[in-house]
Amino acid sequence: MSGVLDRRAELAANLADTERRIVEACDAAGRSRDEITLVVVTKTYPASDVEILAELGVVDVGENRHPEAGDKADAVGAAMQWHFLGGLQTNKAGAVARYADMVHSVDRVKLVNSLSRGAEAADRSLTCLVQVDFDATNPGRAGVVPADVGIVADAIAQAPGLVLGGLMTVAPLGDDPAPHFDHLVRLSIDLRRDHPDATIVSAGMSGDLEAAVIAGATHLRIGRSVLGERPSNG
Ligand SMILES: *Cc1c(COP(=O)(O)O)cnc(C)c1O
Repeated sequence: MSGVLDRRAELAANLADTERRIVEACDAAGRSRDEITLVVVTKTYPASDVEILAELGVVDVGENRHPEAGDKADAVGAAMQWHFLGGLQTNKAGAVARYADMVHSVDRVKLVNSLSRGAEAADRSLTCLVQVDFDATNPGRAGVVPADVGIVADAIAQAPGLVLGGLMTVAPLGDDPAPHFDHLVRLSIDLRRDHPDATIVSAGMSGDLEAAVIAGATHLRIGRSVLGERPSNG
């Protein structure tokens, strides 16, 4: 087999294993598989992998860096839904708003304003999630503290060109993720009192997708389990 066919077989097998884990978690939680969107996180991997994933039926892909994300979006095109997951500088937000369909990592009002201007300039509608951080011991992490979810959510909801989609978190490293995912779901229920359409709960990665499905996640962000271990930090 050629390298491309090897890679295709590898990604197909990994995707099938991941899909099996998601279905088993849904069964255990009494949930339906179609309540959940699998976002395959392709950061650090080439656009050719995204093309293979597209052929395998993947629609949603996640990236965490600009311009890497934009280069892949240009190469692969608009058939995919592009999810931006990473820390985002205000001066790059306009560029990201041109190709991203959803930004999971909105954690300050200044960023809301920049994304809004970018979405308006590109005549696009951009769904934004508020990233919540539950790691009080590590103030350098991305995300708002739970008490500030409302401020950022209201700003998104009022911003032209933006749609408030819901909430996202990354479980603190080394912690049991379950209580944090439960907390995120409670915050989501609170949020929906004011914003009934903000139903997205983005939680769960390769290591903790089962806990996220049990807690009630709607979007899983899975990288390593599908693409393989990343060679460097990403
Ligand atoms: C890289 C990344 C993921 C995917 O993590 P894996 O452990 O590779 O599944 C999910 N969410 C965010 C925000 C990421 O940066």
